[in-house]
Amino acid sequence: MIQKVLIANRGEIAIRIIRACQEMGIATVAVYSTADKEALHVKLADEAVCIGSHLPKDSYLNIENIISSAILTGADAIHPGFGFLSENAKFAEICSQCDIKFIGPTAEMIRMMGDKAKAREMMIAADVPVVPGSEGKIADVVAAKETAKKIGYPVMLKASAGGGGRGMRIVWEESELEKAFLSASSEASNAFGDGSMYLEKYVQNPRHIEFQILGDAYGNIVHLGERDCSLQRRHQKVIEEAPSPFLTQALRESMGEAAINAAKAVNYENAGTIEFIVDAKGNFYFIEMNTRIQVEHPITEMVTGIDLIKQQLNIASGEKLTLTMDSIKLKGHAIECRINAENPHKNFRPCAGTVSQLHLPGGRGVRIETGLYEGYKVPPTYDSMLAKIITYGDTREEALAIMDRALGELVIEGLDTNIYFQYQLLNTKAFKEGSFDTSFIEKNLEEILEQGVGTDAE
Ligand code: ADP
Ligand code: ADP
Ligand code: MG
Repeated sequence: MIQKVLIANRGEIAIRIIRACQEMGIATVAVYSTADKEALHVKLADEAVCIGSHLPKDSYLNIENIISSAILTGADAIHPGFGFLSENAKFAEICSQCDIKFIGPTAEMIRMMGDKAKAREMMIAADVPVVPGSEGKIADVVAAKETAKKIGYPVMLKASAGGGGRGMRIVWEESELEKAFLSASSEASNAFGDGSMYLEKYVQNPRHIEFQILGDAYGNIVHLGERDCSLQRRHQKVIEEAPSPFLTQALRESMGEAAINAAKAVNYENAGTIEFIVDAKGNFYFIEMNTRIQVEHPITEMVTGIDLIKQQLNIASGEKLTLTMDSIKLKGHAIECRINAENPHKNFRPCAGTVSQLHLPGGRGVRIETGLYEGYKVPPTYDSMLAKIITYGDTREEALAIMDRALGELVIEGLDTNIYFQYQLLNTKAFKEGSFDTSFIEKNLEEILEQGVGTDAE
């Protein structure tokens, strides 16, 4: 049994994990950078250790300091949250060498899925449909041109080590390929220390639909239904919902089966997500597996009634999954809006500042995940996500109406936010009707930004 967990993260996800531990009677250790001394996760944990300066490489990515803190405080497990070290195989390995349980899959599983080009090959072997593309990595521009010609334009160049929508380029014709290859590859090598690339057919106007997976150490694997994350900007999610308004029951079942097969291919343990893109005809393709808890996990919790963080802790303690596909029942509808510190009218430029006034919505069907409090100074150093507003209703219409009024109640003063943008997006005709794809925001940005709520934009 796990007695004490060190949370190697910050912000709302660190708080989410601390809360789950508290409910389970597990002691908690927060770690923080010098920029996060006053952060809420530090105040809520039983103990807190400063692990370095504001720079992620000196603190939240500083493996040595994090492991020392765990040993010093007697933590027997580390939860990595998302981002930072959550998909770092070396970190998972070092944890186990130090006899600290890494709450997630094994280093080997992270390695297999973290190399996206290799993951594609494994999925092909497991009969999971992938987007037509290169066999493994492509060596150079010449090889990229050859492969692109074979599969036909448009294509998408993607970084094997990629994440967060970075290291990715759409290429419409051969003349654009060289420049795109070089810039994507250098972006990837700066961001991930690995510039290797692979190539996929660019699927036009797809939906992004992903399946939540849980697996235990005994080979049991279940899925908890899907999340539709098609509303994206720069390949990053903006609003997510569960279930998907696009899926038929038949498609849901065959995608769920494919997701389980994908996870079985690596004998997956702990929580993970299989991401697919789905074209207008309902053809679906695996794009990647995220071997960690995801930002949007609460919407799955709302429609299944299952606490995913507690499941992670139980699995990491060596418990058998008690969930079976028959026992998992989806009920109602949940939506999540990501509230970011950014200015939608200035190309979504991120900002920092002091929260001078804060009012968080409440009432039936509203769940808030945030590290904000009045007077809190949002540092300029980290991800711009400030809060997640999650609403739950019996139907999609109800969840939407609750979100509409919750966003209306939400007040965050002192810095720029995308609250009103979310409100505008929610009130587009396309969103209300559930008919949108991953390019919707980019294609309709002007209209969305101009839209007064209550009128319809396409
Ligand atoms: P995906 O990688 O499919 O977009 P998520 O939507 O779960 O998956 O987003 C995870 C991303 O969140 C990370 O890639 C990272 O850019 C970002 N992130 C990392 N750490 C934090 C944090 N503490 N708070 C908010 N966002 C973070
Ligand atoms: P990341 O690791 O950065 O999350 P993904 O491979 O999950 O990268 O892709 C992120 C997003 O980019 C997807 O949700 C989708 O919107 C878009 N995308 C990725 N691959 C393709 C493709 N082959 N065709 C069209 N869109 C794609
Ligand atoms: Mg992804």
